[in-house]
Amino acid sequence: MRSLVDCGGMSVDINPFESLQEQIDDAAAHMDVGADVLERLKNPERVLETNLSVELDDGTIGVFRAYRSQFNGDRGPYKGGIRYHPGVSRDEVKALSGWMVYKCAVVDIPYGGGKGGIVIDPREHSESELERITRAFATELRPLIGEDRDIPAPDVNTGQREMNWIKDTYETLENTTAPGVITGKAIQSGGSRGRVEATGRSTMLTARETFEYLDRDISSASVAVQGYGNAGSVAARLLQKELGANVVAVSDSSGGVYNPDGLDADGVKSFKNRTGSVSGYEGASQELTNRELLTLDVDLLIPAALENAIDGSLARDVGANAIVEAANGPLTPEADTVLTERDVVVAPDILANAGGVTVSYFEWVQNRQRFYWPESRVNEELERHIVEAFDGLVDCYEEYDLPNFRTAAYVVALRRVLAASGESGRWP
Ligand code: NAD
Repeated sequence: MRSLVDCGGMSVDINPFESLQEQIDDAAAHMDVGADVLERLKNPERVLETNLSVELDDGTIGVFRAYRSQFNGDRGPYKGGIRYHPGVSRDEVKALSGWMVYKCAVVDIPYGGGKGGIVIDPREHSESELERITRAFATELRPLIGEDRDIPAPDVNTGQREMNWIKDTYETLENTTAPGVITGKAIQSGGSRGRVEATGRSTMLTARETFEYLDRDISSASVAVQGYGNAGSVAARLLQKELGANVVAVSDSSGGVYNPDGLDADGVKSFKNRTGSVSGYEGASQELTNRELLTLDVDLLIPAALENAIDGSLARDVGANAIVEAANGPLTPEADTVLTERDVVVAPDILANAGGVTVSYFEWVQNRQRFYWPESRVNEELERHIVEAFDGLVDCYEEYDLPNFRTAAYVVALRRVLAASGESGRWP
């Protein structure tokens, strides 16, 4: 199925699952891998599609379509978030679950990939309706998930609250305690310190490593961030506070704000928390459309909203010379080609936003051991994983003279998945 997706203010007809398959093909072209083996690595092992019937506050029944895709489990339990959004579709969930496989492989954590979602606009529902809908989904997921089977986590429009409900539903039905069945929980429910910041932190670390590799100074870099939610706002804050970068523009679904002298990342976040949007922030000198933000003349652009934010035509107008992808799949394959031709360096999502799943892995380890780490240890271990993954990607990029960092990341990841699947042999 194709879906119309917002692209910097325009609608483009791009299927994210086809984008994923193209990315895998691009990498496989540099490897010795048979078409039959590749076919398996390009398609999910199974997809649950279900319709949740839930009583709403006014006594009527709401029916909500929901999915869980388990893409590949060769390297460990399926792992990946749950998204609540009206644009969720079967193909979007399949694509996101595939990206999880290659993300976990690129940062070398022992997981496969999964993803789930409900077709819903959570803003239209009360908290008690969302709780019943989430618990209904958890009940459907119960036979599929488990600490060693499939471990969901937050994604767009879900967070600690939804994770706590899913954990509680699972534990109640299974009559056990199993905090490791889900990650991204609140601390008192078995969450990890550092998890909320982890995705933005890996984006910041990837930006730091990319600039160092390019011999550019990040402390004097201007930065634009599209999407000021969990991933984008934390990346902006850490780039500003820890690396001294100048965050000049940020946006959300209602529009963007700009100040060439810099925006206070925390100030914009508090403003958005208060008003629901970054638009109207008093420290801005100008309002921007999303297209204007994506084409700003800055040193670093961070897409941190949804997939397909930049298509081929918009890529021709991108003003940044480096992009670090906090969102999953923000560039279409055509955009990738254009940006490679234009020598714009793109640090791919499967590395740059891998902090979320890496700290989810630490959370799961802590849950299994019932032994909890201080935040400093979480951040140190995360930094080690991201820096080692970046170095491995660069080695592969240089050794095989690959066209861009994304292809290098997929070559590294595909090799690891292929090795695990080869070592397992065939069943049946
Ligand atoms: P979120 O819901 O917290 O934030 C998303 C933000 O994007 C919101 O501010 C929303 O207003 C904005 N947005 C939506 N459409 C937009 C548009 N057309 N233009 C500009 N802004 C728009 O979600 P999040 O958790 O920050 O996730 C964002 C991206 O990061 C997604 O692609 C998600 O898959 C990816 N990601 C998140 C995590 C995580 O741990 N949160 C981990 C890995 C990847």
